[in-house]
Amino acid sequence: MPSLDARAVASLLREYAQRTALLGGNPYRPKAYGRAADSLTALAVPLHVLIAEDRLTEIPGVGDAIADIITKLSKSGTHPSLEKLRKEIPEGVLELLAVPGLSPEKVLRLYKDLGIASLAELEAAAKDDRIKKAKGLGAALQTKILQNLAIAKSGEGRLHLHRAAALLAHAKDSLRKARPELKRVTVAGDFRRGCELVGKLTIVAEAAKVAKTSKASVADGLQIRLTDRKHFGAALLFATGSAAHVAQLQALAAEKGMRLEADGLHKGRSLIAGDETEIYLALGLPLIDPELREGRGELELALKGKLPKLVNDQDLRGILHCHTDASDGTETLETMAKATRQRGFEYFGVADHSKSAHYAGGLSVEEIAQQHREADRLNKRFGKDFRILKGIESDILADGSLDYEDDVLERFDFVVASIHGRFKLDRKAQTSRLLRAISHPHTTIIGHMTGRQLQRRPGYEIDIEKVLRACAKHDVVVEINAHPWRLDLDWRWHQAALEFGCMLSINPDAHSIPELDHTRYTCARSPENKFRRAYACAQSAQICSPAGDKFPSVCEAHQQGRRQRLRSHKPRLGR
Ligand SMILES: [Zn+2]
Ligand SMILES: [Zn+2]
Repeated sequence: MPSLDARAVASLLREYAQRTALLGGNPYRPKAYGRAADSLTALAVPLHVLIAEDRLTEIPGVGDAIADIITKLSKSGTHPSLEKLRKEIPEGVLELLAVPGLSPEKVLRLYKDLGIASLAELEAAAKDDRIKKAKGLGAALQTKILQNLAIAKSGEGRLHLHRAAALLAHAKDSLRKARPELKRVTVAGDFRRGCELVGKLTIVAEAAKVAKTSKASVADGLQIRLTDRKHFGAALLFATGSAAHVAQLQALAAEKGMRLEADGLHKGRSLIAGDETEIYLALGLPLIDPELREGRGELELALKGKLPKLVNDQDLRGILHCHTDASDGTETLETMAKATRQRGFEYFGVADHSKSAHYAGGLSVEEIAQQHREADRLNKRFGKDFRILKGIESDILADGSLDYEDDVLERFDFVVASIHGRFKLDRKAQTSRLLRAISHPHTTIIGHMTGRQLQRRPGYEIDIEKVLRACAKHDVVVEINAHPWRLDLDWRWHQAALEFGCMLSINPDAHSIPELDHTRYTCARSPENKFRRAYACAQSAQICSPAGDKFPSVCEAHQQGRRQRLRSHKPRLGR
């Protein structure tokens, strides 16, 4: 039997992971299998080569034990332990694991107690109220299932940006090693467009000579398009998409008597542009950033010379909304601040959780005082070019009030107000809750406005437009939470937010040092490393720095508005 390719082995390994998870026990094992499976889908070198050369452990997340499993799976198409597991539970049950919020234990229970063995059966049972009535399952789980079924059906196989980034970096690396003669190796596809979730991993590479240009040469998992210099731009353009954008370009080309095809832009029999920039130029357009290629009117804007200027990572001067070990972060204030400074930023805005967030170690008033003393001590040491800004991520309570009294809130340089619970309020109530928090004079930023977590849960119901307009009216900044699980506010709203007059702040919501770099998922760092997605002008992405002269705010109006609100609020403090 011919050996299985990486994609087939990855799918078996995923099945193995899921079946192991259903067994219970150490959750580490199934997780490790799952990660290894992801890595397999991004191999730049055929799997059989790696096996033959005994190089499997070069794959990220693959140690000796998993290498052994992969070899067996590839050579025989299965594995004795997998076969044993298959006898215990029907295949359809595995589908249930894709529903966010359904743990393996719950899935097992749904199967054993209610006989549910597919997504369709799960949906039917939830709609018949059968889950609600079952012991140990209950109404809350049933609601969650109904809510999350759509995610289970749609999100299959799509990766969060940070996972896709890691896999693609490795793929590029190993492709370069395997084919040192390649000139350019560029990431394309959804990832290049900065989509919030990445489906297919795609790379375009330039070789000196290619037999038949632009024919997608698919390695095992990853899609690699090999092309030569003359056709590189078109290959990159087509591999980047989106389909709608490319179709619009093709229509424009036709209007102008040209033909845009996968191997380049043609006029009559001759190829008139091969490079990506040249193709746009020949069509009378400036190069459109990949992040804007969604077929949402970008061609019209480009023709009028009105394309938005995307935010660059370098536009960010400081970092706001980060956690430390005072709440649920992993590092001390000092370590986080130093790491931020090392990255060239001017300020670090700590925003640990507030007191109602018990689950996340929310800060008591005494702990706040302690953190502020520590910030003062460090700020003295940092001197003039760096500063810790004292913030808090205050829970928005169910009635829309914030989590501390005004005399406490007053001590912060900035307050991020976020919803972390009571997601189920209806749209009207949830909207009013947010509106009340926005009108609070101490609110500086609204954190992760919709509360969505990609492929885990949809956002809570709110009237986004109303909330955005209120933010503009009250000079409250709208966060673009750059955590790859959130990316909230969704990019589709950025332009509207700016038109309403909102200020946007790109915040990493970092809980550890590597997470400080989350901002890259909404910004560009360098031409090689483009992640920008914010449809914002650089200026509005610059959050005002709420404290001090050394940190002049980009948006003076916001500062003034806030001061005014604080002043008008003062008389009420004495009540
Ligand atoms: Zn939060
Ligand atoms: Zn946070």
